[in-house]
Amino acid sequence: MPLDRGRLLSQCRVPPGTRVRLRDFDPADELSLEFAPVAGATPKMRARQLLEDSREQLGVAQELLWASDTHSVLVVFQGMDTAGKDGTVKHVMSGMNPSACEVHAFKVPSAEEFSHNFLWRYWQRVPGRGRIGIFNRSYYEDVLVVRVHPELLGRQRPRPALSGPKLWQQRFEDINQFEHHLARNGTLIVKFFLNLSKAEQKRRLLERLDDRSKRWKFSLADLKERAYWTEYMAAYQAVLGATSTAWAPWYVIPADHKHVARAVVASILAERIDSLGLSYPVVSPGDARAQAAARRQLLRRSPRSPSE
Ligand code: ADP
Repeated sequence: MPLDRGRLLSQCRVPPGTRVRLRDFDPADELSLEFAPVAGATPKMRARQLLEDSREQLGVAQELLWASDTHSVLVVFQGMDTAGKDGTVKHVMSGMNPSACEVHAFKVPSAEEFSHNFLWRYWQRVPGRGRIGIFNRSYYEDVLVVRVHPELLGRQRPRPALSGPKLWQQRFEDINQFEHHLARNGTLIVKFFLNLSKAEQKRRLLERLDDRSKRWKFSLADLKERAYWTEYMAAYQAVLGATSTAWAPWYVIPADHKHVARAVVASILAERIDSLGLSYPVVSPGDARAQAAARRQLLRRSPRSPSE
């Protein structure tokens, strides 16, 4: 059975305006229909093939994006610690031209960033035309970690009138409008939530402790945040339900199997960029004449270097 990539995309997409229950999404899902073993191929082999094909497709799509110079692409990655954001970015982007692609990892805001409105620092990093910008964490942290730890709001100093559910509702509206503005002005927005299970996070954290080459990745802060798992899941559910829009949909990616997550992200991204229907710019008749003249000139033998 051929791989139905459109189906894969719709399986992960959060339909706009729906209430999201994360328990309906299995983090260990291998999206069995698409990865069903065919002629001896294991799910892992099929996922690898899908990743390879999608990378190739992405390479072509990126060149078209650059050549046509009409759109940009913003890719947002969110997920709990160890969900595989860095690894997915690395694998998915490896087929791309690094000069037209940029990755921004957002950490705890600086004093200057805290002194501005919450979208300010992200605004400055949105990709320009022809470029792909990747946000490894994003403005969604301002409705996730900040919601789970409201004490962070103290440093953001929102207007005192804004507090409680009203504050988050307003932030969702701000985000939707921000993304709407970007989308209307030629930015394709693709948002991935890497959906990891708590059990798999435990396994990955232990692996970091046990494997000397991974120990540097272990952070006590990750353990601290793990204690707030339920609060994070509630915050993610609210985010996915309120900010999956027609112009900037969320895709919930099963992340317990890295090979699945990487292949599915690459495939969805490639499909979405292809859906822009980009093409190489058409050469105007004047330019075509100039190019024909340039061609003749290049082919003419130079009297000074006849060997050319
Ligand atoms: P990562 O886990 O992304 O590899 P770090 O271990 O340095 O990198 O973690 C970055 C931390 O910054 C995370 O705990 C994240 O919640 C926090 N962070 C990111 N954006 C914000 C924000 N807007 N406000 C507060 N904390 C933030």
